[in-house]
Amino acid sequence: MDTVLEARGVVKKYRGQPVLDRVDLEVGRGEAVGLVGPNGAGKTTLIKVSLGLARRDGGRVLLNGLDPWREPRAREGVGVVFERPNLPSSMPVVEFLESAAAIIGSSPSRVDWAIRAAGLEGHEWKTFPQLSAGLKQRAAIAHALLGEPRFLVADEPTSNLDPLERREVLRLLARLNREHGLSLLVSSHVIVELLRVATRIYVLAGGRLAAEGSPEDLFRRAGLARLRTSNPSLAAELLRSLGFEAREDGLGVVVRVDGPLHRFYEALARLGREGVEVLGVDLVEPGVEEAMAG
Ligand code: ADP
Repeated sequence: MDTVLEARGVVKKYRGQPVLDRVDLEVGRGEAVGLVGPNGAGKTTLIKVSLGLARRDGGRVLLNGLDPWREPRAREGVGVVFERPNLPSSMPVVEFLESAAAIIGSSPSRVDWAIRAAGLEGHEWKTFPQLSAGLKQRAAIAHALLGEPRFLVADEPTSNLDPLERREVLRLLARLNREHGLSLLVSSHVIVELLRVATRIYVLAGGRLAAEGSPEDLFRRAGLARLRTSNPSLAAELLRSLGFEAREDGLGVVVRVDGPLHRFYEALARLGREGVEVLGVDLVEPGVEEAMAG
């Protein structure tokens, strides 16, 4: 596979403590890859090491064929969006983008394109603090697009957004991948968000790679998912009425998900229509399966 990013056996320690333990990560040219894991799993650290923004303690990283820690040129053509974007507060977004474009030698027409591609039209004359969280993230994406990246890396771009804004930002990232051909690496602590964006997902837990595969593979292998929801009993009842094996489990519902994924998506949409808010979907470790049987 022609790869934009290839990380093998990455080790990273903070004060002697391993934060990444022999982690692999690969992004093919034109591919959309997801990186999932709970807070503290090491996602941001893996992204920083992959971009050469943090030193690794072991393993190998090639970004655009070069070691990004030694050769900053590796980052050419790479756009980055971090979790909490922070743009200057004193000027309208369009003026900031124009000055940023001038600094990096991008043409003014690129600013118009980035504003359109990021869905910021109608908001470009607002200052950064005047934007909603979702629009702030779009402004950060527009900024990342100025340098005409071929690879976009977005670290938890949805973590501070409401559900509608989340969907829109993810749709935007998916469009940049599918219609504009950008390779994409996007992280989240919610696997379900990435299912429609990424064709391959890496699951990171405690600094180790717990799983890797297509969304379908991951669900089939796990067999069970835990839904965190506002109303577990109603969620379990609805899921059962739709033909799923489901039971309440503490604050959530454990549901069997080894069938076609589109049926599961439809079920989630149905829960939403019935007013059951799904706060997260986690794949369940195989050991829990016995509990389900009992
Ligand atoms: P995630 O992005 O998945 O939430 P991080 O990569 O931010 O995870 O963090 C992984 C672990 O590394 C956490 O335990 C965090 O406390 C630790 N960590 C991250 N950055 C630093 C740092 N600069 N110094 C010390 N520990 C850090």
